[in-house]
Amino acid sequence: MTTQTETKSFEAEVQQVLSLVVHSLYSQREIFLRELISNASDALDKLRFESLTQSDLMPEGESLGIVLDVDADSKTLTLADNGIGMDREELMENLGRIASSETRRFLEATQDGDAEAAPDLIGQFGVGFYSAFMVADEVNVVSRKAGSEEGWRWSSTGLGEYSIEPAQGAARGTVIQLRLKDVAEGEKDFCQEWTLREIVKRYSDFVEYPIQMEVERTQPKKDEEGEDIEGETETVVETQTLNSMQPLWSRPKEEIEPGEYKDFYQHLTHDWNEPLRTIHFRAEGSHEYTALLYLPKERPMDLFEAESKASRVSLYVRRVLIMRECEELLPPWLRFVRGVVESADLPLNVSRELVQDNPKVGRIRKRLVKKVLDTLDAMLSSERGEYEGFWVAFGALIKEGIYFGDDDGARVSKLCLFQTSRSDGWTTLAEYVERMGKDQDAIHVICGPDRKTLEASPHLEALKARGEEVLLLTDPVDEWMLQRLTEFDGKPLRAVDRGATQEADEDKAEREAKQEESKDLLEALHKALDEHVSEVRFTGRLKDSVAVLVGEEHGMSAHLERMLRSNGREVPVTKRALEINPEHSLVAGLRSLHATDPKSPRLVEFAELLHGQALIAEGSPVVDASRFASLVTQLMVGSVEP
Ligand code: ADP
Repeated sequence: MTTQTETKSFEAEVQQVLSLVVHSLYSQREIFLRELISNASDALDKLRFESLTQSDLMPEGESLGIVLDVDADSKTLTLADNGIGMDREELMENLGRIASSETRRFLEATQDGDAEAAPDLIGQFGVGFYSAFMVADEVNVVSRKAGSEEGWRWSSTGLGEYSIEPAQGAARGTVIQLRLKDVAEGEKDFCQEWTLREIVKRYSDFVEYPIQMEVERTQPKKDEEGEDIEGETETVVETQTLNSMQPLWSRPKEEIEPGEYKDFYQHLTHDWNEPLRTIHFRAEGSHEYTALLYLPKERPMDLFEAESKASRVSLYVRRVLIMRECEELLPPWLRFVRGVVESADLPLNVSRELVQDNPKVGRIRKRLVKKVLDTLDAMLSSERGEYEGFWVAFGALIKEGIYFGDDDGARVSKLCLFQTSRSDGWTTLAEYVERMGKDQDAIHVICGPDRKTLEASPHLEALKARGEEVLLLTDPVDEWMLQRLTEFDGKPLRAVDRGATQEADEDKAEREAKQEESKDLLEALHKALDEHVSEVRFTGRLKDSVAVLVGEEHGMSAHLERMLRSNGREVPVTKRALEINPEHSLVAGLRSLHATDPKSPRLVEFAELLHGQALIAEGSPVVDASRFASLVTQLMVGSVEP
């Protein structure tokens, strides 16, 4: 065991978080107490849970709690918990490093001058402990991990370094001592008992463990018989519990103020925004449970990190926290939902495996999914603007729900919003279907990297001319979603860049006749492009453009191929058809070139140019960029007079 004091540097990122927190959250300094209490309450939860299976971690009958102690003379505030504690490694890991890679990315962003956005964003990752440095110029943490004999003291002034050394006689749990900064006139003084009491009541009332403090009280002095002595008072010190300890979810809904829901949400998530929606209900009957769920307003930083794909709802059984992120309570695509479920009927020592197979848990999950979807449905119909904000933040996840097969009765797809060629706004599938003309046989969709590219896509030309609307899908998940979402309200969804187009019989006959006439030209072009395209044919889908690439009806789209490749996946090249607009003036020119000299090398060059520009129009790279550029240059040279 090391007996010496060691000095270590914070990771550079910790220092950045520290200064961001201290500077951007200064006006809300009092929340440091909420953050420390929330950590202490987590540590107590962990101990209580671990001791279910390891009874030697705490003496039987010991009560768990948090104690605040303030000393106005030395300006110190101490917060002690008898929870799980931390060993040396954990102190260094938890209080000296940054765990999340998203936090690192966030820091890079704020460094690039986006500091304005910092206060909003900062709440989205756990800054918890570091907020102590807003009010303290020195923080000492003494901790002993449950089950270990060694205690450790961690100490820092928040300026780049911390020290760590053994602490003799440390009690199990964690004591955090803050040396408070001086306060200016009119600012909150955290040495004041009543200030602390007010803050605890406000932000941490529902914490399930007692938060106690010794308070001084003046009372009438008593004589020997216990009677008040007229005009004389004395000061007594007594321990008071500052919080009501009633978990919010266990209280009747009617008695809960909106502010209390918000405070609990913030305690739970460390998100500083208000929740977008709160869902609180109690199921009664053969299986009793209570659920308190929140839909957040903003997308948390780590939503798409691989390690955070599990749902974020905690499972309690009769007041004991059993699992913080209980995957079984919600499917992964609803992982933005935060909250708590408390069951009265599950066994206390329920293990992960037991939870997985438990039919009661399965029923809770079903009900929670339905409640969330119903809440979204209600928001979509009555608060469209708000719903659109939600959609921007979390729509991609909702669409995952379709891919994962949870769209029974279109309950998920009817909640989806899409961009459309018709307007700048969002549309639902039901609204789209409502606008469909009676001759339109499918819901048209196209996937691509962004709205601008899609709007300019040649695939839309004929549809636009016919006044038909196309959904413009730009989210990477859309391609996956479409594999499952093949119809809505009896109308098939059809990707306009794949398969055949809808065409009147007489148009089709006319086009086929033209194709027959130009058969030799089309074959010559195909021969030149044999390596890259499956066929060269005439099309009815173009108006202004001369050529476009079209995939097989059930094939992979060019967009999906590009996405997979950019993720480093090996994707075989699928040959698509090059479709040519028979009405384009260029076609007449090519026909006469082919008629005069079927072997002309210029035909090959034109074929390459047609293919190249079709690739560019859909956002794909051309096959050989320098060759393409030199062909274009030759064309230009040929068309200007020297
Ligand atoms: P967060 O709480 O968001 O994880 P913090 O910076 O507040 O971030 O805390 C970092 C970690 O330090 C916590 O996740 C926890 O593991 C540990 N920790 C903080 N306070 C305590 C405490 N009182 N007892 C035990 N562990 C603690």
